[in-house]
Amino acid sequence: MAGFTLKNLSKSYGALEVIKGIELEVRDGEFIVFVGPSGCGKSTLLRMIAGLEEVSGGDLLIGEKRCNDIPAKARGIAMVFQSYALYPHKTVYENMSFGLKLAKRPKDEIDSKVRAAAGILHIEHLLERRPSQLSGGQRQRVAIGRAIVRDPQVFLFDEPLSNLDAALRVHMRLELSKLHDDLGTTMAYVTHDQIEAMTLADRIVVLDHGDVQQVGTPLELYHLPQNLFVAGFIGSPK
Ligand code: ADP
Ligand code: MG
Repeated sequence: MAGFTLKNLSKSYGALEVIKGIELEVRDGEFIVFVGPSGCGKSTLLRMIAGLEEVSGGDLLIGEKRCNDIPAKARGIAMVFQSYALYPHKTVYENMSFGLKLAKRPKDEIDSKVRAAAGILHIEHLLERRPSQLSGGQRQRVAIGRAIVRDPQVFLFDEPLSNLDAALRVHMRLELSKLHDDLGTTMAYVTHDQIEAMTLADRIVVLDHGDVQQVGTPLELYHLPQNLFVAGFIGSPK
């Protein structure tokens, strides 16, 4: 397990600067939530941490290790997306074990990891089904399960609940909180939903136009927003 550090981290697409020199230290085991309006750079930031986008400037450290040039697979990171991206023709078991199989892990180890993750997520009874035979919430659990079996140092979640209906979102939010309590792994979570941010986060990072507006605990942001943007976004205009 490890935390991660962003040192003056930036990202540009041509002349468009999408992430503007972010400084942030996330401690080992922390649940950090990035919030901000659509287009502010949340997904780009996570994709850079995951190694799916190149860093344009500054440094990314996972634990103590500079990772700018380390390939995605070697970073010890697992990412869960909003669209579940499950293989439709594979069973739940095969979806969850696929990455470990590619990594040529022994069969016994794969089996015990998949079953343990399925237990945590209450999907043991669904292992032989295919994605089309699952509800939205169940699919999202499989996507999370696929991340858990990889024993990542850091989990990244990009709006994982936004395709679910309101009731299920509340339920899954509680499950994610419990998952974090159980695993104790560092989690970085992106959402544009204030309530999700307030209930899940140890600390919230408010982003606007690729810049950090404020970093703080949910209570700090609620009671002491540093500017009108944060106040408006967190919902406590003073
Ligand atoms: P968010 O996830 O907060 O909605 P994104 O990180 O997806 O925001 O996008 C931030 C900005 O970067 C947007 O202006 C978007 O159009 C731009 N952007 C994202 N990906 C690319 C890309 N591959 N090429 C060019 N511009 C991009
Ligand atoms: Mg996004």
